[in-house]
Amino acid sequence: MKKSKIFVVLLISVFVLSLFMVGCGNGNGDEENGEPGGERPERLAVATGGTTGVYYPLGGGIANIISENVDGVTANAESTGASVENVNLLSDGDVDFAMVQNDIAYYAFNGEEMFDDQDPMENLRGIATLYPETIQIVADANAGINSIEDLVGKRVAVGAPGSGTEANARQILAAHGISYDDFTADFLSFGEAADNLRDGNVDAAFVTAGTPTAAITDLSTQHNVILLSMDQDKIDALIADYPYYAQVEIAGGTYRNQDDDVTAVAVMAMLAVRAELDDDLIYDITEAIFTNLNVLANQHARGGDVTLEGALDGMSLEVHPGAQRYFDEQ
Ligand code: GLU
Repeated sequence: MKKSKIFVVLLISVFVLSLFMVGCGNGNGDEENGEPGGERPERLAVATGGTTGVYYPLGGGIANIISENVDGVTANAESTGASVENVNLLSDGDVDFAMVQNDIAYYAFNGEEMFDDQDPMENLRGIATLYPETIQIVADANAGINSIEDLVGKRVAVGAPGSGTEANARQILAAHGISYDDFTADFLSFGEAADNLRDGNVDAAFVTAGTPTAAITDLSTQHNVILLSMDQDKIDALIADYPYYAQVEIAGGTYRNQDDDVTAVAVMAMLAVRAELDDDLIYDITEAIFTNLNVLANQHARGGDVTLEGALDGMSLEVHPGAQRYFDEQ
């Protein structure tokens, strides 16, 4: 009799304890995140890039569209070191959206290239690809630089620490047999690179951004600069190794004193989001962006490239289900 009483008491205790644990589980999940469908923060942060790039004005435009058209949320654009920093911020939950190059997003999601010592960032999702970002190599017209090979022995700004630009610089130089050991590399934002080029402290700079890029436009009015073309065989080798690059021409007249077309490569800018955000919220945000594209076109020429038809061209991440539902309905 005594033994069976103890058994009943134990059974009841286990039952009560398990009820308590189920309660705790619910509290950590749905209640804390607002809704069963996912997180709905009231304030949303959009990671962009330096203030003289294109991410900053277009990310600002996207933040304005969200604040003005989606009920119950406000969004703000933040200046950052750009793509590589942005995917880290996004994956860690420090921001909710990020402007990012499609090549960098792919490496981050898969834990490759500059991310090979980190866990794959499996919570990155795409909303849409936006516009081409051209890798522009600007050189002081009087520094004796006429080709990428001439950068050997010079002082070169290779992009901000944590930028996609810096990754592109390394890959493009490697395709020419050049490494950072062959010249002095300075890790500068577009604005810093332009100021230093104008003042004679650096001889050339890599800039991965939509054209025209304000930093280069301003520089070209103050200083004589040239854009370097890439040779076809080097472009072919680069694309064979890194398929996110595409060959493009920087049209003559994009910058002051640039009369001829310049052959270059480009990647795609995209808008990425955290997987944890609520599907309905992302549906509403995607709808707001694609029904207010004029706001982006007014911010920068490349904002005019964003279209519903092209929204998934070059997409390198799984699309967020909220965005996918919006695209499927169109
Ligand atoms: N694509 C650049 C990067 O991630 C930033 C471009 C911009 O700021 O417009 O380095």
